[in-house]
Formats: sequence, structure tokens, C-alpha cells
Amino acid sequence: MNDDWNVNIARKIYGIENYMRESVIDIDEEGYLVIKIFDKTIRVKELMDKYNFDIAYIRVMPAIERSMNLVYNSFTMVRDTLGYKGNLIPVFPMKVNPTTLVIESILKYGEKYHWGFNTGSIGEIKTLLKFADRYSPRLLIYDGVLTESTIQELIKLHNIGWKIIVDVESEREVDLLSKYPQFEIGIRVKPLVKLHGKWSGSVGLSSKFGLTINALVKLKSEYKHLVERSTLLHMHPGSQVYKYVDIKNYFYEVKQVYDELRHLGFENITMVDTGGGMAYPYVDVGDGDEESPDYTIVDYFKELLEKFISTIPNPTIIYEGGRFIVSSHRLVVAKVVDVRSYSAVHSIHEQIVKMKDFNSIGELKEFIENVEKFLHELRSEQPFNNGKRELYEELIAIVREDLSAKLTELILSGKADISDVLKNHKIARLLVTPTKRFVLNMSIFADIPDAVLVDQYFPVIPAQRLNEKPHVLASMSDLTCDSMGEIKQFISAGVKLQSKTPIFTILDSKLIAVPGLKLKLRGIPLHLPNRGENYYVVFLDTGAYQDTLSMKHNLIYGAPEIIIREQDGEVRIDIAKHEELYT
Ligand SMILES: *Cc1c(COP(=O)(O)O)cnc(C)c1O
Repeated sequence: MNDDWNVNIARKIYGIENYMRESVIDIDEEGYLVIKIFDKTIRVKELMDKYNFDIAYIRVMPAIERSMNLVYNSFTMVRDTLGYKGNLIPVFPMKVNPTTLVIESILKYGEKYHWGFNTGSIGEIKTLLKFADRYSPRLLIYDGVLTESTIQELIKLHNIGWKIIVDVESEREVDLLSKYPQFEIGIRVKPLVKLHGKWSGSVGLSSKFGLTINALVKLKSEYKHLVERSTLLHMHPGSQVYKYVDIKNYFYEVKQVYDELRHLGFENITMVDTGGGMAYPYVDVGDGDEESPDYTIVDYFKELLEKFISTIPNPTIIYEGGRFIVSSHRLVVAKVVDVRSYSAVHSIHEQIVKMKDFNSIGELKEFIENVEKFLHELRSEQPFNNGKRELYEELIAIVREDLSAKLTELILSGKADISDVLKNHKIARLLVTPTKRFVLNMSIFADIPDAVLVDQYFPVIPAQRLNEKPHVLASMSDLTCDSMGEIKQFISAGVKLQSKTPIFTILDSKLIAVPGLKLKLRGIPLHLPNRGENYYVVFLDTGAYQDTLSMKHNLIYGAPEIIIREQDGEVRIDIAKHEELYT
């Protein structure tokens, strides 16, 4: 019965086949989601059961090392291919995740690459100072507002051997720096290029950071030390720049600004920091959508080095990506505490619809339109009493469930073609709307705040039963009493499937995937938990930005953490309480 479902298909649809993720997580033969460390696998469900957690963050620290290796190796590969002469100095922008676990990992795994940091506040510098003396000294690029007290903290880092570059953005800062010759100066310039995405406001003349060239020219004539001590050009295009063409245009501008600065006499500038923006493949199908960028880290460096290869000398490249480095290391796991139906219909109307035969999409569509017309009339009649309300609810459920099932029958029996159905928006909608609401023991505001703040897509996957075809499409609600505490989007990577036929859920006959297509579903394909079963849902790629943006809405926050590390060739698992990590 399930010949159109197996673990391999689950890997594709739920996005385990992903170049950032597949070295860290997988699905085992019995359908459990597992974390891969060395040659061992650890089942997420067993971890949760063992510690009796209803919600937890699992931190897979080696995932950070793998991302760092990937960045460094990609650069080296491109450099060697092109014959580029400049080096790479990567830095980690601390605002992306300043938790001590992450900072220590960057210091430790970054030892071999001299991975440095980009900070923007005194608090971040103080955090670094807690660990810095245990590791080799690094590069620090400071791009916050400069004050005397920040300078004192920077001096401490400088005194233990760190190289400090301070960005200037105003005359006051240039003036202040004249007293501190131990710091090099970075010129932060506002990019003007037009980009797609949520952070497109980070560029342009009215953006928050950076100097205009006009201001720079003026400062240059007044402060002699500015030209002498400037060693870095620093620009930042905003985060998750998901279109390759935008990256190309942006690098083109960086190159122009670089040439211009050298032309103006800034001859000691031999480092170029292109900021963040390297897009993370939340969905790895490469179609240039917000969640699935159409370029890779190799493309990124290839584009950048090609721009600068004719510049003499070839500048040192500062890689300042954050999202790309830490997203994959954190998983949010939450238990399903309740499953609710959108409707409970046991009525005469339901029977009638069940018996009715439809022979084409046209017939079905006509029927639905009539029901909708009736629904509209029903709603506009006053009074809208309980009897009418009941009828209204029933009919909605019939459209959502029974007519949707009829449509699936039409497709499976060959009377309707899936591509025709998908072209018809109204009808197609039926196949992707959820019929169940799963209540999860979590707070979206606390655990994945960007889902609320910027409508960020985080991939979702059950922790178990991935060898069984999902039963239903479900929306997911959290424990907060806020209507924004809900997740309904699922991007199904059917693009990767080889078969020919679409895949439907077992119980509510909704679409899970269509081979060759990327589908946006309005619910997540999940299984109905058995009586007494601890059924867990896992949000992937939550390692960037979420920890510090976390909100305390309804006072639901403070998940415990399961920290997974490699130590002396062994897997080490620690449990930490929320308070221990953030206070
Ligand atoms: C936020 C920020 C970054 C990190 O951006 P990502 O898209 O997360 O890589 C890098 N540089 C600067 C200056 C930033 O403000």
C-alpha cells in the first residue's frame, strides 16, 4: 500500500538531502531522525525520551566546524583554480549568535584558520574577553558606535595580541581614533546596489551603516592618519541575499569602491570585507527563492575572486558570513500535546457528497462554486443563529475534506491531470489545506522568533515514523495564546523525486509532493500519534539569530538544551539548563 513511500523519499521531501545539513542529520532505516557524529548515529526521539523533555534545543556543535571547513575549503579550491594570490581571513559576526557555546566553538574550530570576529557592541567584546586568552590571537573588526569605554575593552584584546580594526562612520570617530594608534582603520561604505530580500533596507544611502564617499573625501583632507592607517574596505549587503545576480552586482560595486578608494590615495587598503549575505539553503533546490538560493559558497568565492584577480596586489578577502556558519547547528524539538480537528462532521450532507460521482475537474469545480455561493448567502442572512452556524461549519468541512478527497480520487483514477489541477488555483488550494491542528509544547516567539518577526521559513520534520507515509496535513500551534503562534507552511522538495505520480497523505488525501515540482503546502505532512506515543516535531536550521531574539511572550520560554560534542574521539552529550547558558 505504501509503495510510493520509503525513507529515501522522506529524505528528499523533508530536505535531508541538503548540502549544508546532510553531514549532520539523516533518517535511519527504521524511520527515525538521527544526528550523525563520527560513524555514530543518535536518534532524536530517544534523546527526548531519555531526558523526558517535551521541548529542547539540540545543539550539534560539530555542525559549526563542518560549515567552517566548507567555507575555507571552497575558498582554497577557487583560489587555486583561478591562481588568485590573496588569502582568506574569515571572521564571525557575533550578533548572529553570541552564546558562549557558539563563541567558544568558533574560537576552537577556528584555530586552524585563524577565524576572527566582527563585533558591534561592548557586550560582545566583553564576551570575547572571557575566552580569548585560551586561544591564539585573531583579527577583530569592530563596527559599532565608538566610545571611550569600548576603546578600553578593545585595548585589552589588543594587549593579548589581537589585531584590531575599527570601522569609522563619522568625523567624531575619526577624531577619537587619532589618540589610539594601535588600531587599524576600516572604511565602512554603504552599498547602493538594489537587492531582493527582507534585508534590502541594509543598502542604499539612507541605510543605517557606513560612510558616503563625499563624507570620506572631506574627512580625508582633514585627518592625515585616516589615509595612513586605513587597511580595510568593509561593506555589507544585508542578510540572505538569495539571488546570484544580486551577489554579482554587489561584488561589482565592492570592486568599484575598492578601486575608487585606492585612486583617492588609500594605498594601504589591502583587505576587502564583503560582509554577510551568503544565503543559507533552508531548501536546497537552487531555484533562487528566498529559502533556496541559486548559488553556492563556491559560486560566491568564484564571483568575488574573479572580480579582484586583476587588482594588484590581489587583496586579502575577509569572509564575514554568520547565518551560513551557524544555522545548521541548532534543532528545536517539541512534543505534540494535542491533535485537534478543524471540523467534526457527521451529517447527511457528508453522506450525499460521499456518494456523489464526479467525472472531471469541471464538474467538481461547478459543485464547489455552488456550495460557496450557498455559503455566502448563508452568512449574509441575519440572524446567523446556531443552526445556521452549524450548517455553515459542516459545509466548509465538506469542501475542505470530502471534496478534496474526491479531487484526489479524480487524479489517482486518471480522470484529472495533476498539472491541470495545479493551474487552477481555487481547486489546487483544496489539496494543500490542512485538516488537523497539532498543538506543540513550545513557544514560536521564544524558540524560533524569526518565524514571527520576518516570516522566516524553518524546515520541519517529524523525529520518527519517517518510514511511514504521513497521515495528514496539519497546521501547528504553540502554547501561547497568540494567533501568530502558528506555523502552516511546508515547502515540499518534490523536485528531487524520480517517480511520476504525486504523493498524497493516507488519511485526508492531501498533497505531499509532486515529482519535479517545489510545492508550498499550507500544512505539514505528519502522522497521527498513537495512543501513548511521544510524537516529536523538529525545526531545523535554527542556529542563527534565534537565541538572542527570543521573546518571553506569555512567559513561555527557557527550553533545556542537549549539547552534542566530539571530545577525544568520543561523542559527548551534556544537558544544560536555560539559565546556565544565558545569564
Ligand atoms: C549581520 C551582519 C553580518 C552577518 O550576516 P549574515 O547574513 O548572517 O551572514 C555580517 N556583517 C555585518 C556587518 C553584519 O551586520
